[in-house]
Amino acid sequence: MVGEELEPITNGAVLIEGERIVAAGPDAEVPGRDNAASLDLGNSTLMPGLIDAHMHTFGVDSTKLGTLATEHLSYRAGRALTELKEMLHAGFTGARCLGSTIGPQVRRLIEEGFSDGPDLKAAGAFISSTSGTWDSNGMPLAMARAGGELADGPDGLRRAVRERVRDGADFIKLGLSKGGVHDRYHAWGDDPLAQVPCLSLEEVRAAVDEAHRNGLKVSAHAIGEAAVRLALDGGINIIEHGYGITEDTRRQLVSEGKIVVTTLSQIHFHRAAYESFRYPEWEREVYERHWKFMVRDFKLGLEAGVRFALGTDLIGAPTHPLKEAAMEFVLAVELGMAPADALRAGTIVAAEVLGVHKNVGSIEMGKKANLVAVAGDPLKEIASLRHPELVMKDGRLIRSSEG
Ligand SMILES: [Zn+2]
Repeated sequence: MVGEELEPITNGAVLIEGERIVAAGPDAEVPGRDNAASLDLGNSTLMPGLIDAHMHTFGVDSTKLGTLATEHLSYRAGRALTELKEMLHAGFTGARCLGSTIGPQVRRLIEEGFSDGPDLKAAGAFISSTSGTWDSNGMPLAMARAGGELADGPDGLRRAVRERVRDGADFIKLGLSKGGVHDRYHAWGDDPLAQVPCLSLEEVRAAVDEAHRNGLKVSAHAIGEAAVRLALDGGINIIEHGYGITEDTRRQLVSEGKIVVTTLSQIHFHRAAYESFRYPEWEREVYERHWKFMVRDFKLGLEAGVRFALGTDLIGAPTHPLKEAAMEFVLAVELGMAPADALRAGTIVAAEVLGVHKNVGSIEMGKKANLVAVAGDPLKEIASLRHPELVMKDGRLIRSSEG
């Protein structure tokens, strides 16, 4: 599949020199192959490497997220790198970490070649208001403040953005919504239609202004009408989750061409784990409510023409292993996205979210040779993406079914 439209061609060939693609197209039109080593992929389909536009390099047990505040950073980094290597082997040559204190250093370890993994873009630590999205009231306030994620007031938000810049963040992640005061599932809220916006417009604008001055884009965790409106009014670049909204707001997302990142896998893998991990009844009810509106708004968004990028919101094993990220493609197609659109949403559109679409995300001359090959035709059998036969990153063969 060549070009940004992922145009399918049969009997295609790709010529790679070093880490770059130097030619791609129909076999007969690709020149200079005489001295090149070749790899015959038979009936497989060669695609751009997959990109997850929303995940987390937490590096802790996904069923014990409370340990994020206390676990040793070295342990977390080791664990995250192991999962990232698995993710690369599963076909993901790019990923965007939407909040984790260790994200920028994990990215550095991969960049410097100490570990194999997707090319990462990292937000660094979340930015949340006091009592906001990621401020758990199960923890004494002094301890929560020591975590460095809390920021209040326009000046506080500016300072938080500067701290992320100092930490090497590639973009900024703000929390715009939460559940109510007595809500049991604080971060996502018990009810997607009863969310509380947790930053003021002035605070959002201050953070966006500071980030943009530093050349960084801003992503917002935004569920429910008020939070998505706040994101639009505040100049947020990318909207994460983005469901539980009205038709008016959906129309505005479309007219502004705003990208919404899907995160279907997050709830899907919770639902798949209800029994084996003994989720309490109240928590299952919360996820069921979120799933209902996530699915509703995904379908309405497809009809309305919302620009979706595929992101999983996977957080790690055992319930949300990063190596299962291709499930997002399967879920998107099951829920009505055209397979060709899903492939673009998880390659070139996701690359745009990461800010790397000029360099990766499609098979084109001059772009990096980040490639996967899957059996048969993924447009007919999207699940084939879950078991790639070949993965290449920067022109280097990561795995192939031949060994
Ligand atoms: Zn997330």
